[in-house]
Amino acid sequence: MVKIFQIILFICIISTGISEAGEGIFKKSKSLMGTEMEITVASADEKIADKAIDEAFAEIKRIEEMMSTYIPESQLSRINSSAGKKAVKVDKELIRLIKRAIEYADMTDGGFNIAVGPLIKLWKVAEGGNIPDNDEIRRAKEIINYKDIAVDEKKGAVFLRKKGMAIDLGGIAKGYASDRAEAVLKKNGIASGIVAVAGDINAFGKKADGGKWRIGIQHPRKKDAFIGIIDLEDEAVSTSGDYERFFIKDGKRYHHIIDPNTGEPAAKCQSVTVVAKEATATDGLSTGIFVMGPEKGMKLIERLPDVEGIIIDAKGNIAVSSGLKNRIKDR
Ligand code: ADP
Ligand code: MG
Repeated sequence: MVKIFQIILFICIISTGISEAGEGIFKKSKSLMGTEMEITVASADEKIADKAIDEAFAEIKRIEEMMSTYIPESQLSRINSSAGKKAVKVDKELIRLIKRAIEYADMTDGGFNIAVGPLIKLWKVAEGGNIPDNDEIRRAKEIINYKDIAVDEKKGAVFLRKKGMAIDLGGIAKGYASDRAEAVLKKNGIASGIVAVAGDINAFGKKADGGKWRIGIQHPRKKDAFIGIIDLEDEAVSTSGDYERFFIKDGKRYHHIIDPNTGEPAAKCQSVTVVAKEATATDGLSTGIFVMGPEKGMKLIERLPDVEGIIIDAKGNIAVSSGLKNRIKDR
C-alpha cells in the first residue's frame, strides 16, 4: 500500500489586515507549478491591487511554461530531450538561473544538484511514489553530475553531455518565481506585500498597519503547530521539509529531496528554513542544506553573509543560526 501525502502551504502567513490610512489587504490564491500559491498586498486601491496580483500570477505561469519538466514543450524539457545529442538554444533567463543553480551546487558541496533529474524520475514522489532497486539507482547515479551541464553563455545554449541526463529545477524555480512575482508587483506600484509560492516566500514593505509581515514556520511533525514566528522586512524565506511531499511504504517514509550521494531521500534533516534577501537563494540553499545535514549546513549558513536559518535534524533537534536567534518569537 502506498499512501501519498502532500502538505502544500507549510509556512503560514500571519497577517492581520487592519486598514489604517485607507489601506486594505488584498489576497488571492492560485494553483500553478504543481502547488498552491498566495499573493497578499497592501494597497489603497483594490483595482490596482487586483491587476498587480493577476500580472504577478501571469509571470509565475510564464516561468512554469519555460522551466517545467511536466510540459514537454518547455525550454527545459527541450534541453533534457537533447541530452547526449546536442546543445539547445534557450532564453538568457533560463541560462542565468541554471548558472545560479550551479553556484548553489558548488556552495552546498553538491547537496543541491539540478542534474538529479534521473533520480527524481525513478522515485516518482510527485506521482505517488516508487521504490527503485539498487541497480536502477546505481545507473541513475552515473548520469547526475552537474559538471556535465555545459552552459555556453555566448551562444545562449545548454548541452547535457551524457545521454539520459535531465535537469530538474524543482528545488529552485519556485523561489525564482517568487522573486519575479515580487518584482512584477512592485512594477505595478505595490509597495508592500507577501508572495508565497508554496514554501518560498518574499515579504516586502510593511503591512497597512505599519507592522512587519509575519510568518510562522511549520513544525515538521506536529500538524498546525509552529516552531516559531519571524517578522520579515524585504526578505525571503524558504523551507524544505521531508513532510511536504512524501509517501509511506511498508511503514517507511520516502520524500522528495534526494541525496545525490546515496540516490535515496536525504535522511539527515526533517526541515531546513533559510532566510536571505532573495527567494532564489533561500530555495536553492534550503534544499541543498537539507542534503548536507545539520553540522555542515549550519556552518555554511554562518559563513554566508546575509543568510540565516533554522535546521531541524533527523531526531527533531532544532538549531537556529546566530543572527536569527533573537528574531524568533513564539507569538
Ligand atoms: P519544494 O519544491 O517542495 O518547495 P524544495 O525546494 O526543497 O521543495 O525542492 C524539492 C524539489 O527539488 C524536488 O521535488 C525535486 O524536484 C528537486 N530536488 C530533489 N532533490 C534535489 C537535490 N538534491 N538538488 C536539487 N533539487 C532537488
Ligand atoms: Mg528548494
